[in-house]
Amino acid sequence: MQGNTHIIGGITASLAFAQISNDNPLVLVGAGVIGALLPDICHSGSKIGRKFPIISKTVNSLFGHRSFTHSLLFLFLIWMLLHTFIPYESISLGILLGMASHIFLDMGTKKGVKLFFPVSISVRLPLTTKTGSKVEKVVFMLLTMLSVFFSYEMIVKLIDTV
Ligand SMILES: [Zn+2]
Repeated sequence: MQGNTHIIGGITASLAFAQISNDNPLVLVGAGVIGALLPDICHSGSKIGRKFPIISKTVNSLFGHRSFTHSLLFLFLIWMLLHTFIPYESISLGILLGMASHIFLDMGTKKGVKLFFPVSISVRLPLTTKTGSKVEKVVFMLLTMLSVFFSYEMIVKLIDTV
């Protein structure tokens, strides 16, 4: 999936979670966007890969694309790192939500992801599409609509409590 689809995926996941948690929604969403871009560090042409070309090329040559950085193992390691170094639960949660949304969306591509890395099976959803396809644009639109809906719900809740 493309960077923009991942960004809106991270926003949607964070906003959905914000409905059921007391975390600051803005913090969740900000961290969610970072988390949503993080797994594509394995791809030098991605938004994050272009920002950190050396790390990106190294990760890519070591593991390949949609492999280690799209796995439960990577999710777990990042969780451990955040747990150790970031004292703000909302930031950690947002990043993990964003990452999870990224991995889930990439499971909707034909190539799938190596979810159980180092086990090299590709995991994909029953329905898949190509990156940049019309279907991806529809997914983007649906996620945007969901985000608007969740934001609206939150604003209404906020007004009710005033
Ligand atoms: Zn990816």
